[in-house]
Amino acid sequence: MAPHSGTPPTLIDPGLEVPETGTITTGTATERRRSADAAGGARRLLARLRDVMAAGGTAQSRLDKIVMLIAAEMGADVCSCYVMRAGEVLELFATIGLNLDAVHKTRLRVGEGLVGDIAAHARPVALANAPSHPNFAYRPETGEDPFDSFMGVPILRGGRVRGVLAIQHIARRAYDEQDVETLETIAMVVAELVATGELVDNRELQVANDLVLLPSRLDGVSLNRGIAMAMAVLHRPQLTIRQMVADDPELELRRLREAVDSMHSAIDRLLILSGETGGEHHEIIETYRMFATDRGWLSRIREAIRTGLTAEAAVQQVQNDNRARMASVTDSYIRERQLDLDDITNRLLQHLAGRQDKADGGTLPDAFVLVARNLGPAELLDYDSTRLRGLVLEEGAAYSHVAIVARALDIPVVGQCTGVLNRIDPLDFVIVDGDHGQVFVRPAEDITEAFLKSIEVGEERKREFAAARELESVTRDGVAVRLMLNAGLLIDLPHLHATGADGIGLYRTEIPFMVRHTYPDTAVQKETYAKVLDEARDKPVTFRTLDVGGDKTLPYFPDLGEENPALGWRAIRIGLDRPAMLRKQLRALLWAASGRDLRLMFPMVAEVSEFLRARRVLDLELRRLEQGGVAPPRDLKVGVMMEVPALLFQLDALLPHIDFMSVGSNDLLQYLFASDRGNPMLNNRYDLLSPAMLSVLRMLVRRCDEAGVQLSLCGEMASRPLDAMALLGCGFRTLSMSPGAFGEIKTMIRSVNVDVLQRFLDSLLGRPDRSLRQHLLAFARDHGVRL
Ligand code: PEP
Ligand code: MG
Repeated sequence: MAPHSGTPPTLIDPGLEVPETGTITTGTATERRRSADAAGGARRLLARLRDVMAAGGTAQSRLDKIVMLIAAEMGADVCSCYVMRAGEVLELFATIGLNLDAVHKTRLRVGEGLVGDIAAHARPVALANAPSHPNFAYRPETGEDPFDSFMGVPILRGGRVRGVLAIQHIARRAYDEQDVETLETIAMVVAELVATGELVDNRELQVANDLVLLPSRLDGVSLNRGIAMAMAVLHRPQLTIRQMVADDPELELRRLREAVDSMHSAIDRLLILSGETGGEHHEIIETYRMFATDRGWLSRIREAIRTGLTAEAAVQQVQNDNRARMASVTDSYIRERQLDLDDITNRLLQHLAGRQDKADGGTLPDAFVLVARNLGPAELLDYDSTRLRGLVLEEGAAYSHVAIVARALDIPVVGQCTGVLNRIDPLDFVIVDGDHGQVFVRPAEDITEAFLKSIEVGEERKREFAAARELESVTRDGVAVRLMLNAGLLIDLPHLHATGADGIGLYRTEIPFMVRHTYPDTAVQKETYAKVLDEARDKPVTFRTLDVGGDKTLPYFPDLGEENPALGWRAIRIGLDRPAMLRKQLRALLWAASGRDLRLMFPMVAEVSEFLRARRVLDLELRRLEQGGVAPPRDLKVGVMMEVPALLFQLDALLPHIDFMSVGSNDLLQYLFASDRGNPMLNNRYDLLSPAMLSVLRMLVRRCDEAGVQLSLCGEMASRPLDAMALLGCGFRTLSMSPGAFGEIKTMIRSVNVDVLQRFLDSLLGRPDRSLRQHLLAFARDHGVRL
C-alpha cells in the first residue's frame, strides 16, 4: 500500500468532491439526506456483516469474508484490512484485489504510507489520485499499480488504533462523506473482531508495550505548570459499542429519544450547579446545551439509525463523520467546537448505555492523572477534582477551554503529547511535569524519588507561605509593600481572600471573552464584572479593558493574518477604531460598579492622545449612565498600562491626566528590546534585570512619585522573587502577581532591607553589563534575602 512520511493527510481530495467543513452541527436534514439507494446499501451491508460475524469459523476466515463483502457492496476493486501488531506495525491481514501473497507479509510502520498515516492520526483519508499524493509510497509485492483512488479509515477501539480498513478503485473517483461514513461503520464492526484477540493475541501487544515501554519519557508542551504523580486513568477507554446493527429501527429511535431526554436533564442539572459556582463553567455548559439540542445533529443520528444501525453505532458514526470532516480544518475555533461536540457525543453514548455518571467516583483511584486524546472542559469538570492530580492530552492547545479550566483547577497539564494513549495503560504510574512539558511513564525509582523530593520541597514551601498569610507584607526596615493579585476568571477570585492579597491589581477582561463562543453583550459583561466586584468585597479591583489581538485571539474575531501581530491592531487600538465595542465594555463596567469603587486602565497606550480619547469615551458613558438614572461609581480611578516605550517620553503630558499607572513588564520588555515575547529562540536573550530595563523602571518610580500618581507593576516579573526584589530596589511598593507566587514574594519582602538594596542597585545601574542578575543574586545571598 502506500507508505509515506510526516505531513498530515488530505482528508478528501480537493478539487473533486470537497466535504462540508465550515460547521460541525449544521447540515440540515435536506442538505445531508442520503439517497434511498445509499441508505439501503449500507443497511444491506450491515445486515450481511452481522451474518458473517455470527457465523462460525476462524476470525481470519471471517475477516476474509468481510473484505470480500465490502468490496462487493462498495463496488471497490480492492478491500484490505491491516491489523496492528507489536511494535506499532500494521500487518496486511486480509485483502481482495491485492496479491494474496502479500497477506501477512506486507507490513507498515505507524506513520508510514497512507495506511500508516491513517493509524498515526486516527483519521480517515480519501484520495481520488492516491499515487500523486506525497505520502504515497509503492509496495511492489501488493501489486497495487493500477489503483488510482484510495480511501481508508482507522479501526478504533477504546480510543486506540487497532488497524486500518481501506478500499481502492482502478478508475479515478471522488469519495464522498457517505462513503467514509459507511467504511467507518464497518470498521467499528471489524474492531470487535480484532478485540477478540483471535487475529492478534492481545497479550502480544501487551507484552510488546511492556518491553517497549519500560520507563519512558514523553515530551509535549506545558499547558499548565506544576508536578503531579499518580495512577493513570484513560478517559473513558472502556466505552465500546457491542452491537452495531439492529433489527428494529423504531426501538432504536425510542432508545435514542430516551437517552437524549435523560442527557438534557443531566445537562440542565449541571447548568444549575455551575450557575451556583462559577461564571465560565456556566457559559461553557450552556454552549453544550445548545449543541445537545441541535436538530441537524440529532436528525443525522436518526437517519443513521434508519439505515439499520443501533442507536449507539449511529451516534458513533455521526461523530466519526464529523471528525473526518473536521480533520482538514485548521481554524482553531472550529476545531475547538469539535471537542465540544465530541464531549456531547460521549455523554449521549453514556446515557444510551444507561451509565449517566461516567466519571464514576466509585471506580476511580483516590488520586489519578487523566489521560485523553482530547476532551471538553465540561468533561474535565465531571471528574472529581479532589482526586484529579494532572492531565495529559495527545492534542490540546494553550488557549483551549480545557486548558483554561485546568488552570483554574490548578492542575498541571501537558498537551500535544504524541502517542500517549498508546503508551500509557490504565493504572500505570505516571509523573506529569507541567513545568517542563514532560510525562514520565512507569518512571524508575530514582526519577520518582527526585520528583518526590521536589514535590516535598514545594509542599513545605507552600505550608510556610500559607503560614505567612497572616504576616504583614513589610520589609525588614519597615517599608510596607502592597501585594495584589492578577486574575481573569471567576475561579481565580477565591485566591484573593485565601492569599490575603490587598486587591486585584490586574483583571484581564479578555479572558472571560476568550472562553465564550460569541461576543458577550453589555448585560452579560456587566454581570461578570459585578460578580468580580461582589467576590472582591471591599478590596479594590483594577479592570483592564479588552486586550486582544497579538497572541490573544477571540474565537469570533476575524483572523487578520497580520504580518507582525504583536505590533499590530490590538488592545486600545481596536477599542478606539471600534468605539462601539469600547463603549459597551465601559458601560458594562460603570454599570457593574454603580455606587461602588471602580478602577480601570487601558492597555497598549502609545500616545497620550490615545489615552485622552479613551477617557473621553468613558466620560461620555458616565454621562449616559447618569442620564439613565443609574448611580455612578462611588469613586472612579482611571489609569494606563505602561507597555509601549513611546509613552516613556510623554510623561510630562501624560501624568497630569492619570490616577495610576501599571507597568506591563511582559510587553514593555518586548517593545523595549524589540524582542518577541513568544519566540523561544529569544527566550532569556534580554533580561528584565538589565540596566536598561531597571533604569526605566526606576525613572518611572521617580516620575510617578513626583506627580503623585500611584504606580504598580503587573507583569510576570512581580511573580519572581529575585525580579521582585529588584523592583523593590527600584522603588516599587505595589506588585501584582499570580496567586501561586504570593507566599514566596512575601517571604522575600520580609527578609530584605530595601534601604540597603536601593543604594546597592543605584550603584549598579551605570554598569555596561547585559544583566545585573548575578549581582542581585550575590546581594540576596550576602544579605540573607530569602528567594
Ligand atoms: C504585561 O504585558 O506585562 C501584562 C501584564 O499584560 P499581558 O501579559 O496580559 O499582555
Ligand atoms: Mg501586556
